[in-house]
Amino acid sequence: MAGDRTGVLLELEQCCREAGIELTQDAADGMRAFWRMVLAANERINLTRITGDEEATLKHFVDSLTVLLTGRFAPGARVVDVGTGAGFPGIPLKLARPELQVLLVDATLKRVRFLETVIGHFGWGDVRAVHARAEDLARDRETAGQFDVAVARAVASLDKLVVWCLPLVRPQGHLVAMKGPDVEGELAAAEKVLRRMRAQILEVRRLELPRGAGRRTLVVVERGG
Ligand code: SAH
Repeated sequence: MAGDRTGVLLELEQCCREAGIELTQDAADGMRAFWRMVLAANERINLTRITGDEEATLKHFVDSLTVLLTGRFAPGARVVDVGTGAGFPGIPLKLARPELQVLLVDATLKRVRFLETVIGHFGWGDVRAVHARAEDLARDRETAGQFDVAVARAVASLDKLVVWCLPLVRPQGHLVAMKGPDVEGELAAAEKVLRRMRAQILEVRRLELPRGAGRRTLVVVERGG
């Protein structure tokens, strides 16, 4: 129902709390409004296969917000979300931390169009959605080196993410790659490219989503100087 604030993401605040993340009322309201927009648009365009309320709460929203647990998002940081799809993790991140500046990148035009309606809905002047491939942005002077942090969830293997995302962040900037439980193979496969780019893994943070929703790994990579 339009305007109904309680009909979706019923246990969002509680589930976030269980993950160690506190949400303001405004942030939670915003996530409910955003999720309603996703569900409505999902009837026309393929945005997500997760539509159950508790599953969406845990696997889209809480999962997206776990990147905050790395503590790598300074106040007002410039963040690029590579392969954002329907806006995860970028939109929940912006709602939880309204002072962040966010660029949402996706190679699929219909998803970018959807995100433009979301940006318009919230009236954000410091969030943009671009239809592009990350590897092209990495070569573009307007975007290369312009961000403090890059985030990516369910987009590509770590070795690819390193090549696509590190050129987007400033020297000593970070990539937070959101991964499933088993990262050993990907870490090993990325060693060579990390060495070539003089980048280093700062942290491999393993976590469990609340209520048995799954194990995750956040891999934090720092760009060399
Ligand atoms: N991050 C979202 C979407 C994951 S699906 C989530 O976790 O829900 C992967 C998305 O990455 C798709 O929307 C696809 O269009 C996009 N994508 C894949 N390769 C890309 C690339 N090279 N550059 C930009 N976007 C890419």
